[in-house]
Amino acid sequence: MDGTFDAVIVGTGVGGLTAGLTLAREGRSVLLLEAGKQYGGMLNPFARKQYHFDIGVHYVGEIHEGGRIRRLLDRLELDVDFRKMDGDCIDRYFFGDRELWLVEGAERWRDYLAERFPSQRKGLARFFELMRACGAVQRVMMGIATGADKRCALRHAATILECMRVPFAKLLSSYFSDPLLRSVIAGPCGDIALPPSRASSYVSIMVLNHFVDGGYYPKGGSGPMRDAYVQALHACGAVLQKNRLVESIESQSGGGFVVSTNKGERYSAPVVVSNADITHTVELLRGARPNWLTRRKLRRLEPSLGAFMVFVGTDLDLSGVGLTDANVWHYPSADIDAAYAPLFDGRMPEDPMLFLSAPTLKDPDSSRAPPNHHTLELITFTPPGMFDPWFERPLKQRGADYERLKTDLTARLLRTAERYAPGLRDHVQLLDAATPATAWHFVRAHAGGIYGPAHTPGQSFPRRFFPSLGVPGLYQVGSAIFGAGIGPCMASGFLAGRSANGYLGKRARKRLAGGGAPKVLSGPVPELGEAGGERGPQHTA
Ligand SMILES: Cc1cc2nc3c(=O)[nH]c(=O)nc-3n(C[C@H](O)[C@H](O)[C@H](O)COP(=O)(O)OP(=O)(O)OC[C@H]3O[C@@H](n4cnc5c(N)ncnc54)[C@H](O)[C@@H]3O)c2cc1C
Repeated sequence: MDGTFDAVIVGTGVGGLTAGLTLAREGRSVLLLEAGKQYGGMLNPFARKQYHFDIGVHYVGEIHEGGRIRRLLDRLELDVDFRKMDGDCIDRYFFGDRELWLVEGAERWRDYLAERFPSQRKGLARFFELMRACGAVQRVMMGIATGADKRCALRHAATILECMRVPFAKLLSSYFSDPLLRSVIAGPCGDIALPPSRASSYVSIMVLNHFVDGGYYPKGGSGPMRDAYVQALHACGAVLQKNRLVESIESQSGGGFVVSTNKGERYSAPVVVSNADITHTVELLRGARPNWLTRRKLRRLEPSLGAFMVFVGTDLDLSGVGLTDANVWHYPSADIDAAYAPLFDGRMPEDPMLFLSAPTLKDPDSSRAPPNHHTLELITFTPPGMFDPWFERPLKQRGADYERLKTDLTARLLRTAERYAPGLRDHVQLLDAATPATAWHFVRAHAGGIYGPAHTPGQSFPRRFFPSLGVPGLYQVGSAIFGAGIGPCMASGFLAGRSANGYLGKRARKRLAGGGAPKVLSGPVPELGEAGGERGPQHTA
C-alpha cells in the first residue's frame, strides 16, 4: 500500500476541492487524486499567447453578505476576491430585435418588468412571491431560515411541490399570458442548458434567485479561486497529486476502500469521495454496488447537452462597440424552445443561440489580455452525440472532419457575435475552440455534457442523486447532487465532507467501544503537488 488516509478524494473539481477542504479543516488526513495535468476541473483556466481564458466560470451569484456561496467561502476560510457586475444590467437577453435585462434586486427586477409588461403586473407579483418562497425553502434546508422564511415556505408548499414536478414553460404559462415576458424570465435557462419546455421549474427559479441578488466575477478568473483551495489544502496538510487517473475504487470486505491509480499506486481509506462524473464513479467501483435507487436513476440518466465554445483574443475596443460587463444571451426569436428544437433533432441550427461574455470587461484590472486588448468567450450548445466519434481520439489528432466542423461552428458563432461586437471579425488576434470531446478529454464529462445529468424535473431536486450512493463510506459530489454551477457543486462538497466526517467519527467510536485502539490513519506522504499559481496548458482542441 502506498499510503493510508482518512479520505481519498477522486477528482479536484470544485466539489472535490470543497469536500477535501471540509475534511482537512476537521483534522482528517486527505489525499486528492486528479487525473488532469492541473487541479480544478472546470475551474482550471488556460492561456493562449497572452490571453487567459476560463472554462466554467462566467458569473456567480450569492456572494453578497449572507449569500450562500459567501457563507460557504467563510466556513471554509477561503479568501477569494470577487468583482461585482453592474447591477443595472447583469444579463442582456436578445430576442430578435427586442432586448430586455436581468436587473439586480428582486423588487427592482419585478418593477422593471412590470413597467414593460403592465398587463402582467398581477402575475409578476405572484411569481416573485414564489421565487421568494423557493429561496425560503433553500434556507430551511441549509438550517439558516428565519421564522418568516419558514412561514413563507409553508404558505407556498403546494406550489413549490408543483414547481418540482413541472417544466418551467408550463409553470410560466400559469403566471403570464405574454410570451415575451415568459421568455425573459426563462432567459437564463441556458445556465442549465435546457429550454423552458424541458427545464425543471424549481431549478430555473433557483437560477433566478442565484443571480438576482447580484452577479459577481472572481478577480483574476477561476484560477485564483482554484489556487485558494489548493493553498488552503496544503496548509491543512492535505496531499494533492495530479496526473493520477483513478482506475478503481475497491470496497474491502471489512469496510473501507483501496483506490488504485494509473501509476500503479494503491491507497487505502475508510472514506472515498468521488468528484468524477457519477456514471464514471460507478464504473470505477469494485466489490460493492450502489443502492437500487441510484442504479435506477443511472439506467434512465439523460446527460446535459454538450457545449461548443469559442475563445477570442481581440484588439477591438469592446466598450467602444457597446459591450459591458453584462452577459449577452442571443436567441434568434422570442421562442426559446425553437432555438433548442434543432439540437434535439440532432441538427446544429444555422443561427444558434449564443452566450457571450467579455471577461476583460468583468475584470478590467487583471492582466488577462495585453493592454487595450480583450478576451471574449462564446458558448452555444450542440446536439447530443454530435462529437461522440472523436471522444477516444487523442488531442490534436482528431482529423480533418473534426477540424472542419470546428471551423464551421466557429464561423457561425463569430457571425452572431458580430451583431453585438460590430467589427469583431476584423479584429481577431487569437481564436480557439472547444467541443464536447474536449470536455470529455479534460474532465471526463459523461457524453461531453457540461452540467452533469440534465436538469429536467425528473432529474432535479428532490429527484437528483444523493451524496451517499448506498455504499458505506462512499460519497458522490459535483453536479449530479444539487445541480451544476459553482454554488451547487460547492454545497455538494461541503455536505459530503460533513457527512464523511460524521461517518469517520462514528467508526472511531465503534472501534473504541469494541476495545480496539483507534487507528491513526495517516500514511507516508507521497509527492506534494505544486502550490497554486498554475495555468493549465490547454483546455481546448
Ligand atoms: C462552459 C461552461 C460554463 C460555465 N459557466 C458557469 C458560470 O458562469 N457560473 C457557474 O456557477 N457555473 C458555471 N459552469 C458550471 C461549473 O463550472 C461546474 O458545474 C462545476 O465547476 C463542476 O464542478 P464539479 O465539482 O462537478 O467538478 P468538475 O469540474 O467536473 O471536475 C471533476 C474533476 O474530476 C476529475 N476526474 C474525473 N475522473 C477522474 C478519475 N478517474 N481519476 C481522477 N480524477 C478524475 C476530472 O479530471 C476533473 O478535474 C459552467 C460550466 C461550463 C462547462
